[in-house]
Amino acid sequence: MGLRGLHVARGGLWVGWSGITQEDLGPDLADADARLAQHGLFAVHLSQQEERSFYGGVSNGVLWPLFHFLTDQIPVDLEDWEAYEAVNARFAEVAAAHWRPGDLVWIHDYQLMRVPALLRRLRPEARIGFFLHIPIPPADLFGILPRRNELLDGLLGADLVGVHAHGYLRNLRACLRRFRHRWPSLDRVRFEGRDVRFDVFPMGIAAAELAERAGTEDVARASFEFGRTDGASMMLGVDRLDYTKGIPRRLLAFETMLERHPELAGSVRLVQVSVPSRTGVQAYARFRKQVDELVGRINGRFGTPTWTPVHYMYRAITTEELLALYQSAHVMLVTPLRDGMNLVAKEFAASRRDEDGVLVLSEFTGAADELVGALRVNPYDIDASAETYFRALTMPASERRERMRRLRDRVIGYDLDRWAEEFLNALDSKPDVAAENWPAVSVEECLARIAAAAHLRLLLDYDGTLVPFAGRPEEAVPDRELLLLLKQLAGRRETEVHLVSGRTKESLDGWFGGLPVGLHAEHGLWSRRCPAGDWRWQGASAEPWRAPVERLLARFVARTPGAILEPKSAGFAWHYRQVDPEVAEWQVNELRTHL
Ligand code: UDP
Repeated sequence: MGLRGLHVARGGLWVGWSGITQEDLGPDLADADARLAQHGLFAVHLSQQEERSFYGGVSNGVLWPLFHFLTDQIPVDLEDWEAYEAVNARFAEVAAAHWRPGDLVWIHDYQLMRVPALLRRLRPEARIGFFLHIPIPPADLFGILPRRNELLDGLLGADLVGVHAHGYLRNLRACLRRFRHRWPSLDRVRFEGRDVRFDVFPMGIAAAELAERAGTEDVARASFEFGRTDGASMMLGVDRLDYTKGIPRRLLAFETMLERHPELAGSVRLVQVSVPSRTGVQAYARFRKQVDELVGRINGRFGTPTWTPVHYMYRAITTEELLALYQSAHVMLVTPLRDGMNLVAKEFAASRRDEDGVLVLSEFTGAADELVGALRVNPYDIDASAETYFRALTMPASERRERMRRLRDRVIGYDLDRWAEEFLNALDSKPDVAAENWPAVSVEECLARIAAAAHLRLLLDYDGTLVPFAGRPEEAVPDRELLLLLKQLAGRRETEVHLVSGRTKESLDGWFGGLPVGLHAEHGLWSRRCPAGDWRWQGASAEPWRAPVERLLARFVARTPGAILEPKSAGFAWHYRQVDPEVAEWQVNELRTHL
């Protein structure tokens, strides 16, 4: 909803699911489509079965908990992948059908991670952006997904991938290295002849609009009432009822605070608004019961006829009520176990025109990177959280104000429009010159020039050119077909063939010694011009560094499973193609420092 203004201003087309299944829409489907079209919206319809499998099963049942690091919430059975792929393909087809040259396509979130690649196949020249609104887990967690490669390849279909925080990018790079054997730089990776760029765009809120609404009469009246109920200080939690939001641990920390500070009895209350969410997903029903029971236990234990410690609301509230709650809270508790960004934290700051109120914020939210005016907590540490809640309640007014000013500066300065503009500008910017320079001459043109040459001298590389790379160098041997081909080539009129390789002269001699071709071993350190000729050494004499370097390399090989050392006349090759990419990167850096 937040992007509506930008959508209208840019004249975009919005493709999405309406949230109502085909069966539920029934005969109203055509009418709904027509009305959506008037607003530049195009619905991709889902059947009830697809809602269960694509939406409930894969997206919210598997990807959501995994990407929030909560593997214990993943069901044992993951067989709905085909539905995920099929719905993603449908989104890609619809986007392709509406796409016109010059259009930017912006794809959002974990439900549609395959769309960039699927759309790229249909519209290779499109500019495609993808934004992930949830965290990206470390490679060790991401790797448990049976379809991890497909999801990563899905993202690589985009020109630009955006996330909320640097940590998520770090994890994405590690996943690409480990599972796709790509070596991304800080901000891009080369894939199928294109640059896929990554960047951090922390999502903002429509802060000015919200602050204005927070100042209206209705909100002021409601705030006044909320603040008056019993004169107690209000701590506030507002979340979808989701196991990522840390509600049980928040309740436990509140309970611990009451235990440790009996003087607070009657003078503080926790208002927890839990908005019903994904009620069809099994894990959510279990979770609801757990929260209900905890609230009951705490109120049963500490409550008196005149004081209820936890006011619990399991329902959605209006924006006016929400803004009034934000403004009457003394302390806002935003304590998710993991959250891609968390907008509630930002809304709280934007609505505090009085520059008062304290934000307690989990360090495991994307917002924590930005909102340095908050008191940070580790929500898993209940004792420390309880102390931080107490500190927030008793913070002097001057410190509250100073912190709230910093929060508001950030939230108002980097708002939703700015976020969207920065992403779209980055997506729209021209590819780098280096990338544009790629194929200066086409393969066809090269071949035509070669065929027409009066005298032809061919210098051929060996590994990766005449034979594919193998795990171990000794496995990459030429076959009969290649030897025959080289012989024929060398027999061509006015043609000289040379092999230039990093291999040793013994290897090249053994494989190609009998052929009428020039051989150049160790990148030309040794050369042999024709079959009967001698090998000639073109380099300097052996160097004094050799022995100590060999000892050092041997030590690194022993400590790096999968690495191989290949001694050569004038150096060593340290092969690490079979080493875990993250270990390899680390060891290469270490080795360089030692050398
Ligand atoms: N919200 C809502 N209805 C309510 C209470 C809150 O729509 O009754 C909004 C809230 O204002 C915020 C959003 O729900 O904009 C929650 O966003 P957040 O990033 O905090 O968490 P998410 O639900 O996206 O995980």
